[in-house]
Amino acid sequence: MTFETLGLHTSILRAIADAGYTTPTAVQQQAVPAAIAGRDLLVSSQTGSGKTAAFMLPALHKFAAAADVMTPASGKTPNQERQAARSRGERPRFQAAKPKMLVLTPTRELALQVTTATDKYSAYSRRVKAVSILGGMPYPKQMQLLSRNPEILVATPGRLIDHMESGKIDFSELEILVLDEADRMLDMGFIEDIEKIVAATPESRQTMLFSATLDGVVGSMARRITKDPLVIQI
Ligand code: AMP
Repeated sequence: MTFETLGLHTSILRAIADAGYTTPTAVQQQAVPAAIAGRDLLVSSQTGSGKTAAFMLPALHKFAAAADVMTPASGKTPNQERQAARSRGERPRFQAAKPKMLVLTPTRELALQVTTATDKYSAYSRRVKAVSILGGMPYPKQMQLLSRNPEILVATPGRLIDHMESGKIDFSELEILVLDEADRMLDMGFIEDIEKIVAATPESRQTMLFSATLDGVVGSMARRITKDPLVIQI
């Protein structure tokens, strides 16, 4: 099997070729086509299995396919509208970031790894920015990142809640939610934060959950937040 047979957009295939990947890993072979088709996923897999690409490649594919057909009425993207307003001298009050995709991770390190991988996979994607929102990062820096209205947010749950509650992030246009290493997030006591974040996202979202195990508490949360998921055990 090749990445071409998984049905990915040419802009993603170019980035994968640059990364030197030739064959999709087992989790990618199962996850990518199902995610492109819009399925929710529950995936039990370990670090090193290629799970980051398993959720990020289909997400980037969907954004690329949508960008191919979408022309806004004004001919401008929302970010171009914001820029045009600024250059007309309008100084709108802070507008909440409206991400299309949110990836929740247990740790700063993992969030940064996911963001770096996303930058690599989206090298040829138009209008896709990914930023990390992490505990310990200076607040003004995070505000500056959010003011760029990134399409993809990668975050640890605690700090994200702060921004959500102060109105800096609006999840009403969220299309894809990923919980990476969900079992570790629960072990670290993030369950209430996760429940709050999930409740702020649209019912219509696509949800992909990755975890070393799908038993016990993580399994029951996984079932609650997904719809008719494809279960993949690697
Ligand atoms: P992950 O499990 O997402 O942390 O990925 C583990 C490592 O595998 C990362 O260094 C990726 O760059 C690499 N990787 C992911 N998918 C592939 C692939 N299909 N072929 C070769 N390397 C890959």
